[in-house]
Amino acid sequence: MSEWVEARVVERIDWNEALISLRFEAELDPFSAGQFIRAGMDIDGERIGRPYSMVNAPDERPHEIHFNVVQDGPLSPRLAQLRPGERFWAVPTPNGFLTLDEIPDARHLWLLATGTAIGPFLSILKTAAPWSRFEQVVLGHSVRTRDDLSYPDTIQELRQRHPAQFRFVPFITREPCDGQICQRIPASIESGALEQMTGLALTPETAHVMLCGNSGMLQDALASLEKRGMTRHRRREPGHVSMEKYH
Ligand SMILES: Cc1cc2nc3c(=O)[nH]c(=O)nc-3n(C[C@H](O)[C@H](O)[C@H](O)COP(=O)(O)OP(=O)(O)OC[C@H]3O[C@@H](n4cnc5c(N)ncnc54)[C@H](O)[C@@H]3O)c2cc1C
Repeated sequence: MSEWVEARVVERIDWNEALISLRFEAELDPFSAGQFIRAGMDIDGERIGRPYSMVNAPDERPHEIHFNVVQDGPLSPRLAQLRPGERFWAVPTPNGFLTLDEIPDARHLWLLATGTAIGPFLSILKTAAPWSRFEQVVLGHSVRTRDDLSYPDTIQELRQRHPAQFRFVPFITREPCDGQICQRIPASIESGALEQMTGLALTPETAHVMLCGNSGMLQDALASLEKRGMTRHRRREPGHVSMEKYH
């Protein structure tokens, strides 16, 4: 049986009508940037829990999760109704291997996310580790429409703090776009658009890539990276690509 603790919402951010962040207070165990906890609510007499990545850095408070409303999903539409002062449940033990401790050294770190999967990468980027371990850090955020590009202020702050080391690449896949990459992440790896946009080569000699988000992107991006000689990273078999699947 999981042990649940109470989480109290202190603030909500509505990025758009179906894209939300909740800031909350809860007694969580220490976590590493990139890990997730389980959030839950009692629905029709049953506690429904789902994993959500932490967006705050481990030493930052309040805690924060970022999610979209999945129509017909049992939990996300209800979580999305919570207001400051209201409560949900959390399993305080963090989980997950999408952390910098799990990856080998490389010159360049590429963090490529679809949708709300930008969250764990922001947590990582708010810590000191990526900036001391890697020469260059790329954050790619792929969304359907421009109004899904969440956390522009956090990204701007990262740009200002690390002007020579940080590159942010937005991808818009479902509306005409300008100044962003107008392709999915895998297609932009195949076409060379991602390398062109960043001015960095994506090679097994220089790069470690962390992918997070939907399974279509993960599978296709891995296939594109494999064509470049990169392999999936596992603890026992070090490689160049780490992944976490949201759905
Ligand atoms: C390790 C891990 C970490 C996760 N972290 C996050 C997070 O930080 N933010 C976040 O938004 N989600 C995250 N998810 C997904 C999240 O746990 C829920 O599945 C999601 O919020 C939907 O919950 P639900 O109960 O409403 O629907 P579910 O019953 O979980 O899912 C209903 C259907 O929607 C699909 N689905 C799940 N998530 C999405 C999505 N985001 N967009 C479209 N379809 C989806 C499922 O595959 C399923 O077919 C994570 C999942 C995993 C495995």
